[in-house]
Amino acid sequence: MLRSIRSRLRSAGVCALALAVLAGTAGVPAVAGPRGPRAGAPGWLCWPRHGPRRTARAVVHRYEIRTRGPVRADSERFAAVVAATLADPRGWAQGGTVRWRRVRDGGHLTVWLAAPAAMTSFSPACSAWYSCRVGRDVVVNDRRWRVGSESFDGRLPAYRSHVVNHEIGHWLGLGHASCGAAGERAPVMMQQSKGTGACRASAWPRAAEIRAAGLPVISRREARRRQRAGDVPAPLRRADVLARVR
Ligand SMILES: [Zn+2]
Repeated sequence: MLRSIRSRLRSAGVCALALAVLAGTAGVPAVAGPRGPRAGAPGWLCWPRHGPRRTARAVVHRYEIRTRGPVRADSERFAAVVAATLADPRGWAQGGTVRWRRVRDGGHLTVWLAAPAAMTSFSPACSAWYSCRVGRDVVVNDRRWRVGSESFDGRLPAYRSHVVNHEIGHWLGLGHASCGAAGERAPVMMQQSKGTGACRASAWPRAAEIRAAGLPVISRREARRRQRAGDVPAPLRRADVLARVR
């Protein structure tokens, strides 16, 4: 019943008073995103009328891929890794409930691959050493993309997925998080490019971060059930996406 009411309010482009269980989060500061629901303490969740298209079965975010400056990484392979990361059921796709569709123009956001020297052209707050999110622009630093970070205790493919999920997390309205307890999987919104502290490196959002972004937490079993029922499309398989550009 409550889910039905919330769904109608979303499609109408209005605000709804969120349940504590939906909006509450541990260790994730409340930061207003460029368009996303306000994350943090229980309160009002707002869905803009001109935000992502919502079908009866899935939220659809449209994104563009662009480059700025003399990037050295292969831009189409970059686009494929972004697509694979965004479609991955461990990430913001939530078993296909949230879909990310690449478009040529007219997206809700743009994912950039930018040369280090071009980073500050997005904002003086951006750095030639890190990736950045400015308004609707999710900006991945070409140098980080190619070499990763010594502070990230993981392989380069995992680091790349972390960067994409972290900056997309900012676009969804999330701020930075810190390591909860020694040995835990690091929140994706932790600045893992600068270190993971006592946590283990991770490329994927934790359940609290998914809730903080206003998204439903869908278990793998529930995702498979919905896919079998045809409620949501089967997620792209990472290997299949990447195979197209090998
Ligand atoms: Zn960040």
